Amino acid sequence: MRKKQKKKLQKIIISGSIFAFVFVLYLLLDIFNIYLITDKRFTFIIPITIYFSLYIYLGYEIIFKVGSCLKEKKFFDDKVIIVFTSLILFCFGGYYSFMNKTIHFFPSGFVMMLMYQIIIWLDGYRLENYRKKYDSFSSIKPDFVLKKINDNYESQIIESIKENDIVLIKANSIIPFDGVVVKGKSEIDFSKVLNDFTKITVKEGSKVNSGNFNNTADLEIQVTSKFEDTFLKKIISYSNFNDRSSNIEKKLKKIYCYYSKVIILLALIIGILPSILSKNYMTWIPRGINILVISCMFQLVSSISYIFSYGLTDLAINKVLVKNSKTLEDLSNANIFVFDKSGTLTKGEYEVTNVFPQKDREKILRLACEAEFTSLHPIAKAIRNAYLDIYDTTYEIESIPGLGVIAKKDDNEIICGNRKLLKENNIEYIPNLSIGTIIYVAHNKKFIGSIVVSDEIREEASSMLSHLTVLGYKNIMLTGDNNRVGSDISDKLMLTDFKASLLEKEKIEEIKNIEKHKSNKDVICYVGDGNYDVDIFKESDIAISIGKINNKEIFDFADIIILDDDLNNIALSINVAKKVINAIHLGLFLAFITKLVILILALFDIIDIWISILLESIVTLIIMLLSMKKYNLK
Ligand code: ADP
Ligand code: MG
Repeated sequence: MRKKQKKKLQKIIISGSIFAFVFVLYLLLDIFNIYLITDKRFTFIIPITIYFSLYIYLGYEIIFKVGSCLKEKKFFDDKVIIVFTSLILFCFGGYYSFMNKTIHFFPSGFVMMLMYQIIIWLDGYRLENYRKKYDSFSSIKPDFVLKKINDNYESQIIESIKENDIVLIKANSIIPFDGVVVKGKSEIDFSKVLNDFTKITVKEGSKVNSGNFNNTADLEIQVTSKFEDTFLKKIISYSNFNDRSSNIEKKLKKIYCYYSKVIILLALIIGILPSILSKNYMTWIPRGINILVISCMFQLVSSISYIFSYGLTDLAINKVLVKNSKTLEDLSNANIFVFDKSGTLTKGEYEVTNVFPQKDREKILRLACEAEFTSLHPIAKAIRNAYLDIYDTTYEIESIPGLGVIAKKDDNEIICGNRKLLKENNIEYIPNLSIGTIIYVAHNKKFIGSIVVSDEIREEASSMLSHLTVLGYKNIMLTGDNNRVGSDISDKLMLTDFKASLLEKEKIEEIKNIEKHKSNKDVICYVGDGNYDVDIFKESDIAISIGKINNKEIFDFADIIILDDDLNNIALSINVAKKVINAIHLGLFLAFITKLVILILALFDIIDIWISILLESIVTLIIMLLSMKKYNLK
């Protein structure tokens, strides 16, 4: 607990207990008809003075803030309403008790402030708890690093490190910056951030990335990018917990605006008009005050929108980063899921399974490797893995997304890609009918053979998709791969539909097409790796990135980032989103019902101000408890 919160809790406990003691004491005195002052009418002077002092002690900060609220013309701020109502309760309660010698009215002003403070405190407490949970996730970021200054190391805060500074990264710690190793040799991986345990050995001259975990030995690193621009920083600051932009939250704000004005007007009318007409002040003014009380504490209801933050935090702890509350709200409505194939539904780890004609295997693979030397595509990686000999790496290479690569050097030209690419270049080829992705290779405009590469479906794909199917969602796959592969995977995963042989542009067209034909209620969610398909991210309602992140644009265009490469996290996120929305709806429903009931009871004078304050507070507390449960499913 922070100091400020501890102090506040202390205040609540102290003033609450003094209040309870005095209240019970006077209740007993009243019951036994004992009065401390001879004139009965002044009996309540002592407790009311104590209550008022407690009220000031507990609420002076809020009372001060009312001044600035009024200056800013925020007349309907909850603080303003609370302070005014409680002051009216004090004045009127004092007078009322004085005349009627009843004890149960005038403490209301203090009780109101007490309940308000308890609720605010609880709100702060649960929020802080969640922040802490999130911090434990983001604590992968160290606060200090050892910077090398004239052969000495000095501890400095991470934000102060600039490009070209040299820092020491101890073994068993995370590397916070992108940089180049200048001294030392060690093994690194991405285990802390991405659940990627592939170990890479780095030594002098090797590049390292922020978020890498240094496993075995100390490393000296020359920083190439400030912490602000790194992958790690982008991950930590990706989710915006304070962004209250969901439709529910916007609506709540609007409703609150009207609601408080209407209720205050109603309170004035009920309290003043009949009083003047009937001269029966004692009946109507308390009713007016009672209605005023109902208008208070409404904004607290809006704190249920914090439930969004809890959902976001629970997901972050499961390595699912969600941009903001609006995303979570949209996800709870998503019903059309569009998947990219390679790396999303499949592992994206291709393997060369065959080469035609076999007799030219060496030559075909060598030329393909020369052409694929710089490509990051998983197919390129598979081809390079299949050829272990030395090959020429001096080609000038052009990568054509969705088609393949063209490599040129002097008079030599290698074309390596799918059917479309060869057709486009008017090269005759012998179609390869094997099941798998076929890469055709041509040398100097002459077809020389084809390579079959295959990729496996991810183990979790079918369980995740059946989960979505049970929910009644549509599952569509888009792929640049050929029709046979597309249909094979679609059958195995029982997809609603698939579209094959698509270029990157055509995938975007396809998404736009789905977008055009959807109904108002439909929400499209695209799932891809974001490395080659970030343009599609821009077109879909919700974009989910899964898999290794090689492209920093993902942080700008993805709405959800699944860090640990597990498709089941999509189902998890949907469940969390639905639970969050349900909890919010339930909370709102409870709040409105209580308000309505209290309003009716107050209008007919069936309920005492006491009870209405208590009821309001209890319901608010229940709603808070509702929102504190865990959304985590794992
Ligand atoms: P997917 O839709 O399965 O993610 P891509 O759009 O990444 O596939 O690629 C579509 C097709 O384009 C691949 O199946 C392959 O035939 C061809 N292709 C893309 N990049 C390359 C490359 N570097 N080398 C060879 N072929 C490629
Ligand atoms: Mg792809």
